[in-house]
Amino acid sequence: MSHHKIIIIGTGPAGYTAAIYASRANLAPLVFEGAQPGGQLTITTEVENFPGFREGIMGPALMDEMRAQAERFGTVIKAETVLKADLSATPRKLTTDRGEYTFDALVIATGASAKWMGIRKDEELSRTGGGVSACATCDGFFFRGKEIAVVGGGDTALEEATFLTKFASKVTLIHRRDRLRASKAMQERAMRNEKITFKWNAVVEDIVTRDQALPTGEIIPKVSVLKLKDTATGASEDLPVEGLFVAIGHQPNTSLFTGQLPMNEAGYLEVEPGSTRTPVPGVFACGDVQDHQYRQAVTAAGSGCMAAIDAERWLSENGLAE
Ligand code: NDP
Repeated sequence: MSHHKIIIIGTGPAGYTAAIYASRANLAPLVFEGAQPGGQLTITTEVENFPGFREGIMGPALMDEMRAQAERFGTVIKAETVLKADLSATPRKLTTDRGEYTFDALVIATGASAKWMGIRKDEELSRTGGGVSACATCDGFFFRGKEIAVVGGGDTALEEATFLTKFASKVTLIHRRDRLRASKAMQERAMRNEKITFKWNAVVEDIVTRDQALPTGEIIPKVSVLKLKDTATGASEDLPVEGLFVAIGHQPNTSLFTGQLPMNEAGYLEVEPGSTRTPVPGVFACGDVQDHQYRQAVTAAGSGCMAAIDAERWLSENGLAE
């Protein structure tokens, strides 16, 4: 078991920025990259709103740069997933899929993941290229000239539906109620779009697939029909589509800390306003794991910087920085 002054969990913009600041402060941070190295930006295409790149930059390239920048100052990044955190042990301890590590300060930058409907096959088909996705910017391109559906009634669903009309011939927006949650401006924009049709009071109960042969000869299941149920009348309906985008919100990755750190109703970690401090001394949270409001790469990076500075101050105040 090795001991570290500071451990950072997560390698999105928040985790890498915390690592850059902590390593430049000579704290020799250890970073666990987790199940999705580079975080959510690795499944996006072009990032046009991260300052410093006037022509934009591809999401994976941006994350590669952040990683290299952290490593340049001595950050050690391990391809391990944290399975257990014990914040009440002395010293505090993390268990990963490869070993055990103790630490003085901890920065939690585990981010958030897209929510799935929880019906048979939606998440599975998203992983196997079966025509289900939670990211229009990543996958919209594959649906040129095709009929597709988007599930959800919030800003994300309407933004994704509108964006997808650049590619798809028709987009059906499926919402479980008869009123949208999205902002008025977003609603009006979507309603003006002739390619978008609204299916109100409807939920997807099942996804019917058909077998499709890939150029390699491999056969994979692809979305072909959505089995819809009317939430008001209970009536069933079939909707033939070639793609399904699920846009029903995000889930913060906080299960490691259940019962150890306070969370809001949606499971986001609570931090002291204006800081990254959790109520447990020496434990800090940054990025999407504590922010359901902004969820931007640049705000995540900003809070990663704050977490490293907060951690460094806490270590110094407790005589643990040297
Ligand atoms: P939201 O939580 O706002 O909306 C989620 C939507 O999905 C709701 O309409 C909800 O229905 C529906 N839903 C939830 N669970 C299910 C389910 N199991 N089956 C079917 N439908 C379901 O999430 P968003 O990702 O849309 O937005 C998150 C935040 O990000 C918001 O604050 C939003 O304003 C912001 N945002 C802002 C943007 C912008 O300003 N450009 C763009 C995108 C997001 P119901 O309404 O019935 O609860």
